[in-house]
Amino acid sequence: MQIGICSAVLILGLAQSGRTQTNTGPTADIVDKAAPELATSPLAIIGATPDQEALLRSQIQIMNPAVVPLRIVFVPHGKYIDTARTFQLHVPKGFGSLMFTHLPSRTVFIDIARYLGPDWLGYWMAHELGHLATNSAKESDAENAAHEFRRRLKDSRNKHLH
Ligand SMILES: [Zn+2]
Repeated sequence: MQIGICSAVLILGLAQSGRTQTNTGPTADIVDKAAPELATSPLAIIGATPDQEALLRSQIQIMNPAVVPLRIVFVPHGKYIDTARTFQLHVPKGFGSLMFTHLPSRTVFIDIARYLGPDWLGYWMAHELGHLATNSAKESDAENAAHEFRRRLKDSRNKHLH
């Protein structure tokens, strides 16, 4: 019985990969091109404008964190508050209310209403990457790790100026 179930799964798997290989349309082309990037950076960015997404990807590449988020979700203000409540977010004054990270799912939420441009995004994303790097919900741990990420962003900006 056990063996029977396993074979069925295997056959389904093969049938699926066969279908992917025979698909030579435009979709297959996109999948092939996306594959190498997905292997190194499986990050999904949801709800951002194309410009914001491109900016965020380049900033994260520059900061080069050991732990990359799996998902970064830009949400409207009302939804952001709801989401924060759902995750029982507790943010000390001066932090957050702009972005927060749900560590178990490696998801970063960004409040679109608070978005203030590239420098703002880099500064606070460094903080969220700090939470992920230290796997800690503590603001002080996140900030300690964020210093290095912000330095890398600054170095990269200076390089482009010269
Ligand atoms: Zn924080």
